[in-house]
Amino acid sequence: MTALADARPLDWLADFPAIPEGWAYLDTAATAQKPKMVIDAIARAYGETYATVHRGVYQRSADMTVAFEAARQRVARFIGAGSADEIVFVRGATEGINLVAQSWGGTHPKAGDRILLSTLEHHSNIVPWQLLRDRVGVEIDVAPLTADGRIDLDAVAAMLTPAHKLVALAHVSNVLGSVLDVRRAAALAHDVGARLLVDGCQAVPRLAVDVAALGCDFYVFSGHKLYGPTGIGVLWAKADILESMPPWQGGGSMIDKVSFERTTYAPPPARFEAGTPHVVGVVGLHAAIDYVDAIGLAAIHAHEAALVKATREALSGINSVRLFGPEDSAGIVSFAVEGVHPHDVGTILDEAHVAIRAGHHCAQPLMEHLGVPATARASFGVYNGLADVAALANGIERVTRIFG
Ligand code: PMP
Repeated sequence: MTALADARPLDWLADFPAIPEGWAYLDTAATAQKPKMVIDAIARAYGETYATVHRGVYQRSADMTVAFEAARQRVARFIGAGSADEIVFVRGATEGINLVAQSWGGTHPKAGDRILLSTLEHHSNIVPWQLLRDRVGVEIDVAPLTADGRIDLDAVAAMLTPAHKLVALAHVSNVLGSVLDVRRAAALAHDVGARLLVDGCQAVPRLAVDVAALGCDFYVFSGHKLYGPTGIGVLWAKADILESMPPWQGGGSMIDKVSFERTTYAPPPARFEAGTPHVVGVVGLHAAIDYVDAIGLAAIHAHEAALVKATREALSGINSVRLFGPEDSAGIVSFAVEGVHPHDVGTILDEAHVAIRAGHHCAQPLMEHLGVPATARASFGVYNGLADVAALANGIERVTRIFG
């Protein structure tokens, strides 16, 4: 086992007040626990500096506006965006994808055009496109997976045609942990004149993301999986693409001038941020990015890779366990215990103070592909260590004894 996996998390674990001693929290892919500096930033924003943004004439509001826009700059720097104007604050990845589907999807593809997804997508990267299909008449194609659970980009290359206007894929699978070669996916999409949307929910907390280097056109993620607050997320898109998109929700803040005869709209990103924003969520997201960057994504990735390796080794030694996904999955290991429903696995593990996720993980088409109704899933964060892997393995041994 690497020294990193052994030693570092003890420091990092101390940053998380909601993780009691002896509790193995292995559900970071659902949502990450929050470091104290994020909790403090939220408490300060509500308890000391709170005000609305963008419209107050008083100093407190002006200061909060500076903090709000500084967070936008911070996000832009974090993901390598060309400008803070390319950062749209949304409620989360789900809202980001729905925004693109409604605004861009409602104006760019025409009836008969095609959208390509993959078998492993989260429902939030499936259903918005089905709603678009019902509204506009686009067709949806589904790329298959390789035997080890990656999106099969050779198949994508063979499937894409000039009729495809969008390819929408997960950067990291929330079930299998498989990592997409985004640069290749972008090149394939662009070869046929399609845009590439990347669902970065599971990637941003565990891989360094540079949207310019990746070459994608849209990138979405949720703050709460990145050690930040719930209710805040990010849609990034290239400036010219955002410029070409109409508003999707109307209200305050997104307008230039309103009259009953005619309303004109603000430029991006304000055009897509109708209503009072989640001011404190944005401040908390800024703190979360500072937290993650201070540790460094290379260190986080190495740490989680060591935990994944240890988990796969420990679980593959238990006869009745079936592991899903590739060996080099990013921070996420799905598995099944033969003859035991994943919910029972989760309940027995909970008795041993091990928290995993059991279910279809909002990826029912993937469950069908795997031939199971559900999986058990362990997913890691900076606070986990080898003791958590050991607790998981011991818990699974107990499951097999109980059901043996
Ligand atoms: N995509 C992936 C890959 C996810 O893991 C999730 C969250 N489980 C989502 C999208 C949706 O994120 P949210 O619920 O935060 O909008």
